Amino acid sequence: MEDKIVYSIVVPLFNEELVVEESYKRLKEIMDSTKEEYEIVFVNDGSRDKTKELTEEICKNDKNIKLVNFSRNFGHQAAISAGMETAAGDAVIVIDADLQDPPEVMLEMIRKWKEGYQVVYGKRAKREGESFFKKFTAKAFYRILKSMTSVDMPVDAGDFRLLDRKVCNALVALPEKNRYIRGLVSWLGFKQTYVEFVRHERFAGETKYPLKKMMKLALDGITSFSSKPLAFAGYFGELTFAAGMLSLIVVIIKNIISNTNILTLGFILAVNLIMFGLLFCCLGIAGEYIGRIFDESKNRPLFIIDNIVTYKENIDKRKVS
Ligand code: UDP
Ligand code: MG
Repeated sequence: MEDKIVYSIVVPLFNEELVVEESYKRLKEIMDSTKEEYEIVFVNDGSRDKTKELTEEICKNDKNIKLVNFSRNFGHQAAISAGMETAAGDAVIVIDADLQDPPEVMLEMIRKWKEGYQVVYGKRAKREGESFFKKFTAKAFYRILKSMTSVDMPVDAGDFRLLDRKVCNALVALPEKNRYIRGLVSWLGFKQTYVEFVRHERFAGETKYPLKKMMKLALDGITSFSSKPLAFAGYFGELTFAAGMLSLIVVIIKNIISNTNILTLGFILAVNLIMFGLLFCCLGIAGEYIGRIFDESKNRPLFIIDNIVTYKENIDKRKVS
């Protein structure tokens, strides 16, 4: 009988041909040092470069490696979800492939888990090699989201974290489609702690999170955990109603007193544009929520798996038995 897997390392991959081999090497080195059974579950999120071929090669030579191939690109959060579903370990660690999250930190996470913590998240004490824009928007976003929701969410923490089997099962069982996993883990509860780390520069290649994907993740976070933006339209309506009434009174009084018309065409046009702008913003906010309700109601799966590749011997063994 095979030994029970203690740790599953989940690694999402999207066009990571420049990093996957180094990533495997570093992860293997660290996990071998635990002297306990482990597996690395790579999830290829529809890469269009050589990621798939390179990772399949790794699988062929190492019995601890699994590769889940998606049928297309479903996104980082879907890839992590698939990895968690596939993982068999007592503890599941999610880590990016690009070595921005230092693999050594996994050992600290494991120590905390052995002390009895069920969630150990990595808190970014410092971020190296990322643009000012990325650092600023990330910092602002985590704080805005925290202020908008009643769920106790840690700031400056990504998806680099360890989850106990119980937490992983609970997370996988959640039905929602537009997932903001770091928030969902906080929502689940359980005994949580963190380890601090310095987030390094990417080992190689470019970020796979362009502004569009960042915006989608941020909006998923906000819409999943707060309905406050929906109330904006109401506040805005009350404010403009009050301002409108006030200006009407001022105009009437001015006209009576001095018999002049203080409203120029330009002024009216500007006010109109501002009002329409705000109105469409409110519609857009409502649209973000409605779009997600639509997604949920379709009830499509989070991702589609093309195939799962494992060590050749394992496959052969299964055929024999
Ligand atoms: N990733 C993914 N699917 C995507 C985008 C990214 O699986 O659609 C993976 C990527 O390969 C990496 C991790 O998610 O392992 C984080 O992406 P990246 O490092 O590019 O993001 P950043 O650190 O720049 O925010
Ligand atoms: Mg990265």
